Amino acid sequence: MSRSSGPTAVGRGEGVEEAERLLQKNAEWAERRLRDDPDAFRKLAQGQHPPFLFIGCCDSRKPLDTITVTRPGELFIHRNIANLFTPGDVASGAVLEYAVLSLEVRHIIVCGHTRCGGMGAALRGVDGGVLGKWLTPVRQLAAQHADELDAIRSPSEREDRLSAINVVAQLENVLRHPCVTRRLAGEGPPLHLHGWVFHVETGRLEALPLPERRWLKEGLIPPVAEGDADGAANAAGVPNGAAS
Ligand SMILES: [Zn+2]
Repeated sequence: MSRSSGPTAVGRGEGVEEAERLLQKNAEWAERRLRDDPDAFRKLAQGQHPPFLFIGCCDSRKPLDTITVTRPGELFIHRNIANLFTPGDVASGAVLEYAVLSLEVRHIIVCGHTRCGGMGAALRGVDGGVLGKWLTPVRQLAAQHADELDAIRSPSEREDRLSAINVVAQLENVLRHPCVTRRLAGEGPPLHLHGWVFHVETGRLEALPLPERRWLKEGLIPPVAEGDADGAANAAGVPNGAAS
């Protein structure tokens, strides 16, 4: 397959076989998958049409296809520490543009989680290095909501509350992106936005209630046309053409 020769891993010390286990498991999985569906990979190779863009935290306890029982081809995923969608961040911006304009995903899910190290670091005021710089928006968010957060005595519950606040704030950043604005105004297929939190301690995903009224008032989402209001309190979006 590869034309170059050389070791398949570099580094020092013991433990290289930890990664070899992953390669072995991958080979077994691919064989099993082909036994179930001989065309599985041929079909995947033809292209992708994922309905979902998933913006989540890097945390290893949130294996997205496992917890949502989805198959390859269903989730288009962007992950970074603290599931941020920050204006000016080219990585998440490029993912959003490709997902919305080229793949025409029908759902954008920003998903935080409980016990998030990013929230903890922001609340503790970690501000050094690249990580500190990256977490600046979360620190600012914590400062904006200091009254509410300070009233929560348990540090882990405080982090979890900030995680939920952060999900809504990141959705607002997504809503401000022109490609999302245009889709919500009726250009292209329907689009819905969701804010979820994964509860690490129970394995359950929670769909957060979204501040739809405030977003409408602030012009972040267009008014829903009559007949399209389905009362979905934890998803924001309008069907194609509804705002025309
Ligand atoms: Zn996290």
